[in-house]
Amino acid sequence: MKKAVILGGGESGVGAAVLAKVKQFDTFLSDSGSLKPHFREELQKWDIPFEEGGHTAERILSADLVIKSPGIPENAPLVAKLHAQGTPVISEIEFAGRYDTAKKICITGSNGKTTTTSLIYYLLQNAGLDVGLGGNIGKSYAMQVATERHDIYVLELSSFQLDGMYDFKADIAVLMNITPDHLDRYDHCFQNYINAKFRITRNMRPEDCFIFCSDDEVTIGELNKIVVQAKKLPFTQNGVVEEGAWLDDDTVRVRYEGDEFDILVRDLSLEGRHNVYNSMAAAITGKIMNVTNETIRRSLTTFEGVEHRMEKVMTVGGVLYVNDSKATNVNSTWYALESMTTPVVLILGGTDKGNDYAPIADLVRDKVKAIVCLGVDNRKIHDFFGGIVPEIYDTLSAEACVNKCAELAVPGDTVLLSPCCASFDLFKNYEDRGRQFKEAVRRL
Ligand code: ADP
Repeated sequence: MKKAVILGGGESGVGAAVLAKVKQFDTFLSDSGSLKPHFREELQKWDIPFEEGGHTAERILSADLVIKSPGIPENAPLVAKLHAQGTPVISEIEFAGRYDTAKKICITGSNGKTTTTSLIYYLLQNAGLDVGLGGNIGKSYAMQVATERHDIYVLELSSFQLDGMYDFKADIAVLMNITPDHLDRYDHCFQNYINAKFRITRNMRPEDCFIFCSDDEVTIGELNKIVVQAKKLPFTQNGVVEEGAWLDDDTVRVRYEGDEFDILVRDLSLEGRHNVYNSMAAAITGKIMNVTNETIRRSLTTFEGVEHRMEKVMTVGGVLYVNDSKATNVNSTWYALESMTTPVVLILGGTDKGNDYAPIADLVRDKVKAIVCLGVDNRKIHDFFGGIVPEIYDTLSAEACVNKCAELAVPGDTVLLSPCCASFDLFKNYEDRGRQFKEAVRRL
């Protein structure tokens, strides 16, 4: 019996452990922290041995195969040792892909992954197809491969998941964009991060499709250097393409194998320029999958969006409150601000991942009347925006923050939580931040 060790006991790790068990591996899961009770119960239910609060090195180093959670860096001492002794270390997606013959539609990018993945899933479900959703979102892909069956999977892939992928092949790969993010995990080298994102095209053949944003200079630069076998389908908001999607005045047009689809931008249910890209990527996928124009249209006009992404919470006293808590980098806040048509009270702050605020300086100058910081250390925000925005305040809780915003905003304004930063200084995660924000708004 081959020995499989799973490092990390979260959603993906527990799913991988169950799949390993089902596929007759001698399976062991190890987590340096403590497991959530429902994951512990799941492992017990499947009779899978595990340890928590530390790793037993000998047991891990004797494995034939190690499946590593995307949260554990490649240079963690134990992982480095496994690499040095030649033990294969793979991701949950690579592992599950080995046992899955379904068609795989994979989405990656620095921003827009969850939105586009959810939209494609919604569209394929509307078309009556048997489709599963996994990767960085929802239920673990490996768990689904172990316990259910689908004809198609829509998988959201982070760069960390892609790092541990070798033989996996996507049938349709979607690359939304590439902007610097997570560079702490890539030796502060942007090219390493670009290479990780492009792993989504690995093993693709001419009959597969690669959907990408041809307005993204980084993506185009890389495509000029490497060979991607798959059929290339760009989407763009500048100019026309032969096959793919483009913007013709106020209309999105899509062409695939001689067949066309079009929709007015104002009919798209998701607002903002970034969401035009996301809708384009989904529409191209729909055409490739032979979904009717009617179903594509119905999907793009009725999709309700994903929580914490430009989510309209409510209007109080003529002021609209928008929860974009998932905007944890400067680029996503750029798109949020770009889509604003009213004066904005902007909530910024949290854990800074090495932000350069210069790209949003002009938008902030034009649209933002006040900044309310929601974070422990706001010096960088004060230093950068001090001469740009007349009023900047500090708050340390969602409630204090929302109350301050309500004081500053007048009817017709928008209060936008789009903080450019991670949330770990004051909140459990961005979801917690978004929910506390919404609760505070409802209490106004
Ligand atoms: P991801 O899963 O890649 O983090 P999400 O769909 O969760 O992406 O969106 C994250 C943030 O990025 C949100 O604030 C959203 O408004 C913004 N965003 C969504 N799509 C795009 C895009 N195509 N380009 C830039 N920003 C985007």
